[in-house]
Amino acid sequence: MKPYEHLAAFGTLDGELRLGGMPLSRLAARVGSTPFFAYDRDILDARVDRLRAALPRRIELSYAMKANPMPAMVQHLAARVDRIDVASALEMQTALDSTISADRVSFAGPGKAPAEIRQAVAAGIIVEIESTTELERVIKAGEELGLTPRIAIRVNPDFAVKGSGMRMGGGPQQFGIDAELVPDVLSEYASAGLDILGFHVFAGSQNLNAAIIAEAQRRTVDLVSNLAEHLATPVRYLNLGGGFGIPYTEKDQPLDLDAVAADLHALVDGPIAQRLPEAKPVIELGRYIVGECGVYVTRVLDRKVSRGKTYLVVDGGMHHQLAASGNFGQAIRRNYPVIVGTRADTPVEENTTVVGCLCTPLDLLGDDIELPHAVIDDLIVIFQQGAYGLTASPTAFLGHPAPAEVLV
Ligand SMILES: *Cc1c(COP(=O)(O)O)cnc(C)c1O
Repeated sequence: MKPYEHLAAFGTLDGELRLGGMPLSRLAARVGSTPFFAYDRDILDARVDRLRAALPRRIELSYAMKANPMPAMVQHLAARVDRIDVASALEMQTALDSTISADRVSFAGPGKAPAEIRQAVAAGIIVEIESTTELERVIKAGEELGLTPRIAIRVNPDFAVKGSGMRMGGGPQQFGIDAELVPDVLSEYASAGLDILGFHVFAGSQNLNAAIIAEAQRRTVDLVSNLAEHLATPVRYLNLGGGFGIPYTEKDQPLDLDAVAADLHALVDGPIAQRLPEAKPVIELGRYIVGECGVYVTRVLDRKVSRGKTYLVVDGGMHHQLAASGNFGQAIRRNYPVIVGTRADTPVEENTTVVGCLCTPLDLLGDDIELPHAVIDDLIVIFQQGAYGLTASPTAFLGHPAPAEVLV
């Protein structure tokens, strides 16, 4: 997708990017400093509505808050999703501070500290078990607190999903209990005083291929149906993962949500209804819910020409937006969608390179891109920044101030 296609979702006002119902420069004046991240509620709500309309009604939507843990965002989504998935004590706190009830919060991730597990058990959160060590910790916490821990077993599937930006299941993994070990684990812990609600399989992240996602979900239902025979109680919780991706670069095509949804309808009405009739199927998404509603806004501090190449130097950079800069040079870098937000209606005029204010050539936000002619104080906007932006970037690197974050 090209930058102007992303711009179309937000629209323009007075020749500028429209954000929170106002032109970008007015929002920037209200925020009072650059750089900043802005998340647009209308776009966010439209995304949740689109998901709800496409997915079967029986599917519960969980928000994986590591994608964007801003408390205002979590609070906003708490009223719109069915569940929240957390991955640390701080995230757990943020979820518990929102309006979602504790029994609708799940806690996943390897290396849960005993104190975190105790907090989760005390609050009645579903602990998603990644290992037998965690099972022991949960049992101990339950005994000490006089509570029956509510858990789900995270399973490392016996299949791998191709086409994910990040594979998190199949083969050896730090995530989950290997599928072939689960039957023995279930019988060993059958009388350990645990409320085992069901299973969780998360095969990978940032997948744009509907057919591959659909296949992973079919295989997950198959796997869980077989494991269910080893569980004393019916499966009530069936976390199918998600991994729905969003387009970041011009070569990425958006995920065909309707195709994924069609397959989920068939799964819900067929194998899930037949083999797991009491299960609540859950789709757990981070990036797909929040990724497209957010932009990162920086101000042009300098414009210079070096041996024929034009540079725009902005007041933000890789310390706030690591992924757009190519992850410390570890990935093949491709341009994220970038526009001059204060000249959103102006046709492109020149070839430009947008760099951040850090003292490293890795601080690159847009390389050899076509933009309108921008000058000092223009605002440069990067799209697709609602997920894995601020909290997934090395904010302390070089010691510049942290950016503001606003939900508009
Ligand atoms: C990170 C994570 C997610 C969210 O992944 P997205 O690609 O942002 O949707 C969901 N579930 C688990 C277990 C995760 O670790």
